Amino acid sequence: MKEVILLKNGELALKGLNRRTFEDILVRNALWRLADLGRFRFVPSQSTIMAEPLDEDIDLDEAVDRLTRVFGFAGLSRAAAVEKDMNTILSMTGDYLAKELLAARTFKVNAKRSDKKFPFDSPQICMDLGEVLLESYPHLQVDVRNPELTVTVEIRDKYAFIHGNQIKGAGGMPVSSSGKAALLISGGIDSPVAGWMMAKRGLSLIAVHFASPPYTSPKAEIKVHNLLKKVAAYSGRITLFVVPFTEIQEQIKDNCPEELFTLIMRRMMMKIAEIIALRENCGALITGECVGQVASQTMQSLAVTNAAVDLPVFRPLIGMDKEDVVLLSRKIDTFDISIQPYEDCCTIFTPKHPRTRPKLEYVVKAENMLDIDLLITEAVNGMKIMNIH
Ligand code: ATP
Ligand code: MG
Repeated sequence: MKEVILLKNGELALKGLNRRTFEDILVRNALWRLADLGRFRFVPSQSTIMAEPLDEDIDLDEAVDRLTRVFGFAGLSRAAAVEKDMNTILSMTGDYLAKELLAARTFKVNAKRSDKKFPFDSPQICMDLGEVLLESYPHLQVDVRNPELTVTVEIRDKYAFIHGNQIKGAGGMPVSSSGKAALLISGGIDSPVAGWMMAKRGLSLIAVHFASPPYTSPKAEIKVHNLLKKVAAYSGRITLFVVPFTEIQEQIKDNCPEELFTLIMRRMMMKIAEIIALRENCGALITGECVGQVASQTMQSLAVTNAAVDLPVFRPLIGMDKEDVVLLSRKIDTFDISIQPYEDCCTIFTPKHPRTRPKLEYVVKAENMLDIDLLITEAVNGMKIMNIH
């Protein structure tokens, strides 16, 4: 028996004229994600895309699992594609969905007939199939309002599809349909979540990480690598730029007032990230900042940080509670990596009494004690680049 995966488009359906373009991007992203499992053909029709395996022995469970992490699909179902013949449907459904039917206590049949030439209408399919299933699985009861299992039969142009409950998709918009942005990633809980949220809105990502060896250990860098792998399971490939930051931090420490360390460091990060972002055709920066979390994230500090760059800075966590961010980081499986103890560069030169209401002029004046252009050029020249997927 032939099996396929039926994918329901999410917000795509709203896109009107651009729908074809969005669908093309979505299919390209999905194909890329499945490439090493075998060949697939994607056939769009209305708000569903059918993914049809073209090779024998493709691991469909793995394919379904990966597709639940492709943004742009609202839901998916693994389905049997059978001949459009009532007897075939009646005889095959009970076997195909045996596991689900045995586990459920209540069910209903849902029939969709988009091929109006099919000689049985939807109510007839529901009635006949319901009867057959009740005979084979006498423990079941019909519940049309709130069934544990909905058995769906879709009569389309080429096949009849049979499937059980739909699995929830990742939602959002296909990655790269909204352009590209640069994520500033530390090793903390927040920035991977911030990147994931923006990828969900259709942005493809590059990532910038500032490392300060020997103050920070190579393990901190591996941690960032592992975090990005988890994000890339949703966003697709991420190019990571690791920027050497030790010299800049030492210079700030030696030349600037202690109360401004964090802020000036943050501004330097933004300036360098902006240079990389522009080179890589990104339209925005992304950070994991949130109002009120720490001294460098008061409204005034954020304003001073923002003023370091011209590109828009997306801060998707800005109004979220930590608790909700943690929930998301558990959902995308970054939490356990984020809480590993390796120091990141921010924790090393933390001032005892940071400024919480800095004035921009004062910060800029202090910053001008540094040879900013030279420091930035050296940092950018020394960076390492790697691809993560
Ligand atoms: P996170 O959990 O993402 O580390 P945080 O709440 O600890 O965030 P900060 O340490 O103040 O906050 O950092 C704020 C933001 O600055 C981070 O979310 C990240 O976007 C960026 N950032 C901090 N440190 C680095 C770094 N070493 N490399 C790149 N970006 C960084
Ligand atoms: Mg941090």
